[in-house]
Amino acid sequence: MSENITVAGVSVDTRHWIGGRRVASTSTFTDHSPIDGSALGEIARGGPAEAEAAVAAARDAFPGWAATSRAERARILHAIADGVEKRIEELAIVETTDNGALLRSHRRGVMPRVAHNFRFFADWLLGLGHEDFDTRGHTNHVSWDPAGPCVLITPWNAPLMLATWKVAPALAAGDTVVLKPAEWSPLTASLLADIAAEAGLPAGVLNVVQGYGSEIGDALTSHPDVRRISFTGSVPTARRIAGSAAANLTPLSLELGGKSPLLVFADADLDLAVDLAVEQYDNAGQVCLAATRLLVEEPVAEEFTRRFVEKATALRQGDPREESTDIGPNIHPRQLEKIDGFVRRALAQGARAVIGGHRNEGQYYAPTLLTDVAQDAEIVQEEVFGPVLTLQTFTGEDEAVRLANDTRFGLAATVATGDRERAERVTARLVAGTVWVNCFFVRDLQAPFGGSRQSGVGREGGTWSFDFYCDLKNTVTAPKGWNQDHG
Ligand code: NAD
Repeated sequence: MSENITVAGVSVDTRHWIGGRRVASTSTFTDHSPIDGSALGEIARGGPAEAEAAVAAARDAFPGWAATSRAERARILHAIADGVEKRIEELAIVETTDNGALLRSHRRGVMPRVAHNFRFFADWLLGLGHEDFDTRGHTNHVSWDPAGPCVLITPWNAPLMLATWKVAPALAAGDTVVLKPAEWSPLTASLLADIAAEAGLPAGVLNVVQGYGSEIGDALTSHPDVRRISFTGSVPTARRIAGSAAANLTPLSLELGGKSPLLVFADADLDLAVDLAVEQYDNAGQVCLAATRLLVEEPVAEEFTRRFVEKATALRQGDPREESTDIGPNIHPRQLEKIDGFVRRALAQGARAVIGGHRNEGQYYAPTLLTDVAQDAEIVQEEVFGPVLTLQTFTGEDEAVRLANDTRFGLAATVATGDRERAERVTARLVAGTVWVNCFFVRDLQAPFGGSRQSGVGREGGTWSFDFYCDLKNTVTAPKGWNQDHG
């Protein structure tokens, strides 16, 4: 297989990165760009042998990295952040070409945040204090010991960003890593391996294996030497991973799907509420947090819909590399088929498409708003992961909360209201890992992120990420028993 491909002028190594070396596989898979369906190149197709080699490399590198001083680990993490910052343009264009999300948001938002993830956890590590408790003169000393090799598995909708939410805290904690990016967007993980190596990360501390989850996944997640598994992706895959991890009771962090609501109360600033609703088409609706269920209070539903349609139909769909584009393509023909299937079944069940409801040319789906949907309908209950929103109306807070909470998910919720007391009452009753009031998508890295119910297990961010990647230890020391000479 050819070792390097050139994507938008950037050279990307398509092999695995294991133990500080590039490693080919006997077979490959083809990576396509969702922008025009063109083949970008052949990527190494890993299986159990590559999983074994990568975990062995992570295991061998672990004692050295775990023993590296915090200051040195933090220095290397900052050097990785420097490397990301130097290559923002390259990372942005490769990611856009590979997964179809907007170039302008990769450039200005996502890639700077990738660098920030490394800086944040480097600083976290340096600021990590210690906790000591005293029990009848005995000192209880709490320490954060590195856990060991970690398997990190990520999806395609925000590939590098989501990978670094896991890689950065794991490396900061002193763990070693095997990263398995999604097969539909494998490229930036390979660039991250280059950047980490240039930053001086020792061989084997970060390993990247490519391939289909169905072929390499089980070998990674059932491996007895793996001490943590962190997964972001769909619920069915999470079930499979949890089953595989059960063999060794390997601790899991799961960031999964959602079917989040946007509650618009009659007292809300309606223009703001409409902006929040239209924002849910970002990344062509391929955002786990997207508030795809619009719940609008009856008296303002008609006016809300009118303003929404005006704004949504003005969105420009097209090439994500163009500065003026608002909505890019969907990731893969199979994903497009899935989206269309959901919409066709909803329409057959009596839903009405206020806008959209069909494919556009190429790998694009028309921004869609469906009304006349029942609460128990598939389109209201299941994650579509495309630019498809539903609109239901409600009367009063009780009904709003009942509809909002009535799915098996609990990832996020957004509330638009002009009444602060109402906001407090409603947010307290919502089942969701993140609730936004009159805003969307903002989060400090120190705050927890994750889902309730089937949207996930555990939380990422700040202390929650860090603790997950550590074995917490309490060392209790008696006041007496010391050799006199040494006091
Ligand atoms: P997916 O579950 O199909 O794949 C995710 C990853 O799992 C890929 O790398 C894939 O190769 C791998 N995988 C597949 N089978 C595996 C197996 N048997 N063992 C180990 N790994 C395996 O998900 P996707 O389609 O790539 O991503 C979309 C989903 O991710 C949506 O449900 C979305 O809501 C969710 N998501 C959640 C968050 C969050 O933070 N909560 C963020 C982004 C995406």
